[in-house]
Amino acid sequence: MTPPIPPTVPLMDLVAQHAEVADEVRAGVEDVMRRAAFVGGPEVRAFEEAYAQFVGARHCIGVANGTDALELALRAVGVGPGDEVVLPANTFVATAEAVSRIGAVPRPVDVDDERLLLDAEAVAAAVGPRTRAIVPVHLFGRVVPMEPVEAVAAAHGLRVVEDAAQAQGAHRAGRSAGALGDAAATSFYPGKNLGAAGDAGAVTTGDEEVAARVRLLAAHGSPRKYVHDVVGMNSRLDTVQAVVLSAKLRRLARWNELRREASRRYDALLADVAGVRLSPGDPEATDVQHLYVVRVPHRDRVWASLREAGVEAGVHYPTPVHLTGAYRHLGLGPGSFPVAERAAGEILSLPLFPQITEAQQERVAACLARALRDVGAASGSSAAAVAAR
Ligand SMILES: *Cc1c(COP(=O)(O)O)cnc(C)c1O
Repeated sequence: MTPPIPPTVPLMDLVAQHAEVADEVRAGVEDVMRRAAFVGGPEVRAFEEAYAQFVGARHCIGVANGTDALELALRAVGVGPGDEVVLPANTFVATAEAVSRIGAVPRPVDVDDERLLLDAEAVAAAVGPRTRAIVPVHLFGRVVPMEPVEAVAAAHGLRVVEDAAQAQGAHRAGRSAGALGDAAATSFYPGKNLGAAGDAGAVTTGDEEVAARVRLLAAHGSPRKYVHDVVGMNSRLDTVQAVVLSAKLRRLARWNELRREASRRYDALLADVAGVRLSPGDPEATDVQHLYVVRVPHRDRVWASLREAGVEAGVHYPTPVHLTGAYRHLGLGPGSFPVAERAAGEILSLPLFPQITEAQQERVAACLARALRDVGAASGSSAAAVAAR
């Protein structure tokens, strides 16, 4: 008889997450179905109000997904065709896509080597006559230090739109991600810290005019039935998704705390593993560990070795925006943004979710240590050399 195969450690566990809200969601969804009230309604309003309060923003507008949220937020603050928008080179491609869909031009810049977040000096250097806005991305649940970004924005009259898709509940220096700029976009894609049962997103803002503009643009440019003032789009938060999101929002603060606990446990487990480079925390920030990202030498071989050992890791993201096929036309070849490019070859996202167990984390750490020893031995190179540089 073959021995039992040990279960894999998943990158995230949405089944375990759903189990915590299943009864509440079932009752709420059945109610929506019974009334056949699929669009709008009190469920959407209730979620928007609860999320606005959670973020500490005056307004929240639910939309169809995070990419729409970015596009709508950018348009609402005045970004139009031909404008340039500065954003980090290492982000999910949607950050740039939203800019392109407006007919504006994404202007990627390099990031800081420690936290891999937008570098304000690089932003300042990229500002030109066509620059209209900056998009700080709170990547991995790490909050971008906003003061220097705000200083650049103020000096050049630029708008700031946060990409807060990975930072629901994160805060820094007493202010919440999602309430740090002129507007913010977030995504409730199922794998985010707050995830729907499908696609959903939201714009948050403290600016009443921006909020009204987002609502107008998201609803076919229609301030009231049969009237269409501008060319808008159709981007709605579905009622069923609002039910799911409200149920999960009530657990989000605790889930984020569990992510931070798990993250601290990894920090301890990996502290002495040769070759692993951990990200330093920001003493001013309370991150939400959307992803637990380490840097390792020979990343692809380490990644494959983990997979063979039943540990599902990820890479977010293997190709910086400027090196994707979609953005080749920007003409920014390899070497344009050395920090982001080098990091793209070293980063590895380890399994992390609120329900992860200590035993699972110990197994991940042990497998990672073994993988690093193996690749180090095979190549004859010192893993510590990468860690130290
Ligand atoms: C998920 C994500 C988006 C896009 O959100 P969708 O809901 O998938 O459209 C944008 N930016 C970042 C950083 C993301 O992680």
